[in-house]
Amino acid sequence: MSCSESFETGAESANSNSVTSERRCKHGMRAVLYISWSRSNPGRRFFRCPVWKDDDCGFFSWYDDVIPPRQKEIISHLVETKKLLESKVELMQKKESAMEDVIKHLEAQVMKHKMFQSSHQLEQRANQAFVSFHLRQLKFFFAL
Ligand SMILES: [Zn+2]
Repeated sequence: MSCSESFETGAESANSNSVTSERRCKHGMRAVLYISWSRSNPGRRFFRCPVWKDDDCGFFSWYDDVIPPRQKEIISHLVETKKLLESKVELMQKKESAMEDVIKHLEAQVMKHKMFQSSHQLEQRANQAFVSFHLRQLKFFFAL
């Protein structure tokens, strides 16, 4: 296994609480535990220089043993499945937010329609009041 291969691919820092190490890098600093997510070493932990991003001394040491081929295959499959599911979730979230926009638009339309209706009803009531007022006047007039 070459070291560079896991340097190139995604690696994340491992929860080092469970691993106590006195391993020191070439700077003399305590090495940090990471997890490799490369295809050839999925999930395999390794130590690395703590300042490798800025001033890498090149210290690298595997913490876990070589992963058996079958386990490697299964882990890789699970990692791929996770990525696929994450992209599906992302797509569904986009769809959901698009649906929310549509709902907001429709609610605004309904509100507009209701306002139009109620102003129309007010107008009708005003007309009815006007008509009944004049009817009363006519009745009054003819009653005389
Ligand atoms: Zn170092």
